[in-house]
Amino acid sequence: MPEVRHWDLLIGGEWRSGSERIDVRNAYNQELVGSIVRAAPADIEDAVGVAQRTLRDPFPSHERYSVLMSAADRIDSAAEEYALLIAREGSKTITEARREPPRAAGILRLAAEEGRRLSGRTLPFDIRPGSENRRGYYVRKPAGVVAAIMPFNDPMAVAAHKVGPALAAGNSVVVKPDSSTPLTVLKMAEDLYACGLPAGRLSVVTGHGSEIGDALVTDPRVRVVAFTGGVSTGERITRKAGIKKLILELGANSPVIVMPDADLEKAASAIIAGAFAQAGQNCLGVQRIFIHSAIYDTFSDRLCDLTSALKAGHSLDPSVDVCQMIRLAEAERVEAWINEALEGGAIVRAGGRRTGAVVEATLLENVPAGCRLQCEEIYGPVAGLYAFETLEEAVARSNDVDYGLHAAIFTESLRDAMYAAENLHVGAVIVNDSTDYRLDSMPFGGTGRSGIGREGLKFAVEAMTETRVVCFNL
Ligand code: NAP
Repeated sequence: MPEVRHWDLLIGGEWRSGSERIDVRNAYNQELVGSIVRAAPADIEDAVGVAQRTLRDPFPSHERYSVLMSAADRIDSAAEEYALLIAREGSKTITEARREPPRAAGILRLAAEEGRRLSGRTLPFDIRPGSENRRGYYVRKPAGVVAAIMPFNDPMAVAAHKVGPALAAGNSVVVKPDSSTPLTVLKMAEDLYACGLPAGRLSVVTGHGSEIGDALVTDPRVRVVAFTGGVSTGERITRKAGIKKLILELGANSPVIVMPDADLEKAASAIIAGAFAQAGQNCLGVQRIFIHSAIYDTFSDRLCDLTSALKAGHSLDPSVDVCQMIRLAEAERVEAWINEALEGGAIVRAGGRRTGAVVEATLLENVPAGCRLQCEEIYGPVAGLYAFETLEEAVARSNDVDYGLHAAIFTESLRDAMYAAENLHVGAVIVNDSTDYRLDSMPFGGTGRSGIGREGLKFAVEAMTETRVVCFNL
């Protein structure tokens, strides 16, 4: 039997119990995976206080580097344990879950390296008459206390993308994991401390965001809020946070454009993987598939064949391609969005059914304009097929949503690829792969309702620092 562990709060390196607990269960069969403490706002107050006090203690760059590098090695050696935990508590197949620990370890290593590159430069004060006798420079200082708020879909990778750069830049961090996938994050924190992280630098406060989120984001001692999650939570944080830095990685409704000259077999398999990985609960997931009318029939048939071949079921079954969604209520919401599109005239080309928390990989055609599937983020294993006549039309329709994270085009034409690169209003344009491509060191983030700021280690490390000028009047 797999271990069922009951975790306490981690406040500055010390475990603290609480009077109320929340069970963490697998959404497929309700198996108990573990439990967490339901923190109260007073726990947040304590965690931020410890984080603030700890900033006085020295934590030089070489120590940050060695903690992050050792934690990466430790994660690598416990990779299978992490993968099982991710697949049990979360919404990834075991095959998908096995990719996450090595990725998280790699992100921590990139963060460690970026931390060593943090530097400033001298300033040429003599460009202004009267400043000839000034000498000086600027440096980057830790921003202070970072609040890191996580979603459920990539619990390790997102934690590594926030905690890694925050520590590498010399900050202390208070982490609020998603209530569905807190166990993986607690285990990572335990591993960071086992690798020599000084007490106080990291806290993990578990519990409902609706109960403790405001206390965390409104605390004036918190200098950076790094949030990944839904748009409505992001909007609430923006209204509440006050004067502090915000890095918001929010939702998307990502388009891919398929031109007739593309390598269509390569395009089909990339699009299917991009649409249905993690049961579609992926901010980079393909949601709108624009197919040139000259190839619409054959290409959409091929996509439907590949989609119908995907097996839906339990995350721990190694033969399953599309597992249960994170919660039954989420699967019911996705089913309701499918039904809304069908009532408006859409047609199911593949999949379309729900069993418990599992929604089949689904392709719809004739999706009516204005329905939620067309203009909002579905965040489930469903994509729409749309025919177009010209690239200009496809790009305009791609841009016709309030989101702008990634967009993709499949073509062999440099001219068409460049047209897309210049005109798609997104954080990244991917040519000849789906929107679900990310290099962890690249600047990552979106436009419009997809968010504010950029992650990616160099960019996150810089965002988690303040620039200080030093000027000598000789
Ligand atoms: P969510 O409901 O916004 O939850 C995300 C986190 O915010 C959870 O830890 C949640 O805690 C917490 N939270 C809830 N209410 C809060 C409040 N008032 N103040 C502070 N924190 C609060 O998001 P989700 O539905 O789980 O995640 C899916 C979304 O994340 C999708 O839109 C997806 O596109 C987006 N996402 C974006 C990226 C990206 O990089 N752009 C990556 C992954 C996911 P509880 O769990 O306790 O409610």
